[in-house]
Amino acid sequence: MSTLCRQSDIYSRVCQYLAGFAVLLLCSAVHAGEVAVDPADNGIDLRQDSTLDLDSRSSETSAAAENLLEPTATREYMGPLADAVTDAEGLAEPLKILGSEVAPGTSQRLSWSATELFEGVPVSTPVLIANGSAPGPTVCLTAAVHGDELNGIEMIRRVFHDIEPRKLSGALIGVPIVNVQGFRRGSRYLPDRRDLNRYFPGNPNGSAAARIAHALINDVITHCDALIDLHTGSFERANLPQLRADLRNPDVVTLTHGFGAMVVLHSKPTVGTLRYAATRAGIPAVTVEAGGPSQLELVEVKHGVKGIESLLTRLGMTRRMRLWGDPEPVYYRSSWVRADNGGILLSDVSLGSTVRKGDLLGSITDPMSNARTELRSPYSGRIIGLARNQVVMPGFAAFHVGIETDEVSASEEEVDVVRKSVDGGYVDGMSE
Ligand SMILES: [Zn+2]
Repeated sequence: MSTLCRQSDIYSRVCQYLAGFAVLLLCSAVHAGEVAVDPADNGIDLRQDSTLDLDSRSSETSAAAENLLEPTATREYMGPLADAVTDAEGLAEPLKILGSEVAPGTSQRLSWSATELFEGVPVSTPVLIANGSAPGPTVCLTAAVHGDELNGIEMIRRVFHDIEPRKLSGALIGVPIVNVQGFRRGSRYLPDRRDLNRYFPGNPNGSAAARIAHALINDVITHCDALIDLHTGSFERANLPQLRADLRNPDVVTLTHGFGAMVVLHSKPTVGTLRYAATRAGIPAVTVEAGGPSQLELVEVKHGVKGIESLLTRLGMTRRMRLWGDPEPVYYRSSWVRADNGGILLSDVSLGSTVRKGDLLGSITDPMSNARTELRSPYSGRIIGLARNQVVMPGFAAFHVGIETDEVSASEEEVDVVRKSVDGGYVDGMSE
């Protein structure tokens, strides 16, 4: 709440008169009227990422968003997440989901079919359930909403492998491969080249993407008290393991506190993302970004698993796992450093590097003329995302610098950043 109240004058005034539930409702209403504006988290940059696989054109995205239904699940706000989940006593209820009933203290592997392939054959994907012996919250983990993002799949496997339902309070639901069609093709997208993560909460009568999104929300996500959506960078870019979270939402703030030593980047959810739809349905959600696509990166996987297991302990769901480390800094702002010339990009920094304003980040060399240009950091901060060494075009977003600011200055500067970045800050695929 304190985070919320310091965000702006408007919130401060509101907070003087309202508390708890009322404030959350108000904030939800404010969210509802907004178009997501976080420049580095919004996903569209036609100039640099016009790959053959590109679907997320601005017009289509906004048109799609307009056609989406509101979430059918209208959940009552149950109070701060932490209060609802700790010190639960008594026996857990069976978990009824996907036409099955999972008894307390047991785990089951179910399957979920959202749609049919073109041949008319249903496509199913596994859903892992661990229903604890004791009552508690239901936490959901989703991965591979983008089919080429593999780290989250392995994170979910490891988290479930470590869970003992008899010792669990609450339930864990995992969907390791949401976009099974994309996964099979090694593609970020669905077979019709749509980005599934721009179509939530979906529409049962819409495009294939909208139907899959609608089914996932209704069949699985409505059972969750909190959602962790697992992603990686995209298009040959990698992210330092980090949380993307809307820190204006107190329940989301509670979630981020549980992750221990993981960087937090404040970001309003992009319209159409799973994080957006879940939060609007009253289910606090965060995105974990870790590593890059098309690879299994064990360092990043272990980092994510530690964060998730730390959260489960913090929520009172598991007791044997240790809390992990001191919290990492929260970045309220971030900025992309772009290539002004085309050529061979070579980095001089690595993920997690601390940089000062003016520091050399990398260079771009024209392979024909051998002319070399340097990319320097316009801010002091930390490298939270970067492009792998590759050939780039002018305008290519190469380095993502997290900028530490206090919350007040963030809210003031945010307006300025948004004004300046009508399209300059949008980076396709760097949104979850
Ligand atoms: Zn993703």
